[in-house]
Amino acid sequence: MWYKGQDIVSVINQPDGAFKEGELFVVQKVRKCPCGCKTNQIYVGLSSDIQYKLCVHSNKGYSEKRGSIFWHNEVFFRPLDEMVDISELVEMINKPRELLK
Ligand SMILES: [Zn+2]
Repeated sequence: MWYKGQDIVSVINQPDGAFKEGELFVVQKVRKCPCGCKTNQIYVGLSSDIQYKLCVHSNKGYSEKRGSIFWHNEVFFRPLDEMVDISELVEMINKPRELLK
């Protein structure tokens, strides 16, 4: 689902204030959450020196070996190409051609 170089958009305000809803990012790295909850975490190039983190899914704590990389849970993001509003597309397709000019 997530891959390096993918365009993504934040869909909620990050609790630590690192970013707000609607900001664009590019996926740099992906990994499984260290707490063992099997969700993904995404690195978008932001840094953090917080070494003790809480998983947003399990509420379990874990510590970062490399504190400079700020991993965010995947629930904060959606791929940009999934953000197209389907109803808008359908409306456009159903319009007579002359109205599209
Ligand atoms: Zn977790």
